[in-house]
Amino acid sequence: MAQVLDTMVLSPLNDRWRWTLNGNGSFSVSSARKEIDKHLLVMSSSPTRWSMILHIKVNVFILRMFLDKLSTRSNLSAISMDIHCVLCPVCDSEVESRNHLFFGCSLVSELHHLIGRWWSIHIPEFSDLVSWESWFKGLRLTSLHKLVLEATFFSLWWHVWKFRMIVFLRWCSLINACFLTTLLLKHYFR
Ligand SMILES: [Zn+2]
Repeated sequence: MAQVLDTMVLSPLNDRWRWTLNGNGSFSVSSARKEIDKHLLVMSSSPTRWSMILHIKVNVFILRMFLDKLSTRSNLSAISMDIHCVLCPVCDSEVESRNHLFFGCSLVSELHHLIGRWWSIHIPEFSDLVSWESWFKGLRLTSLHKLVLEATFFSLWWHVWKFRMIVFLRWCSLINACFLTTLLLKHYFR
């Protein structure tokens, strides 16, 4: 130990803290903010979409939908929530994920088809958000038409989610009613 210490040359400066998140060792609010954002913010490969002709609540919904942050059954299951069933409450045939509910579900496919007839354009079957984005990007329409068509899709998906919530809540109230009935039968009619 004495030999090691003999080779050391101590600086006459006082002890100080060193910030290691940037190169110069000095603290900066921006480097701290970048580090916090890296851990807290959800990053998406898709560009953020915000329609100026739609209500803010629809835009917020679209933002969450694009980030796959809606409370779909697959997302609830992924965070270990105890849910009775993960199937789509609309068609009852596939797992309810963002991509199924807004692109693969039979109800949405039919609605997309109706939009195609209304706009006189061919709308293919989409399997996920990426395929929709790729198709939309390649559309040869004026920017105004694209703005309106995009808003049409966003509004449609907003109403699909509202419809899904109604179906889901009815299902929950049915479950609650069954639970209550079982409870009453168990305690009062034994
Ligand atoms: Zn479905």
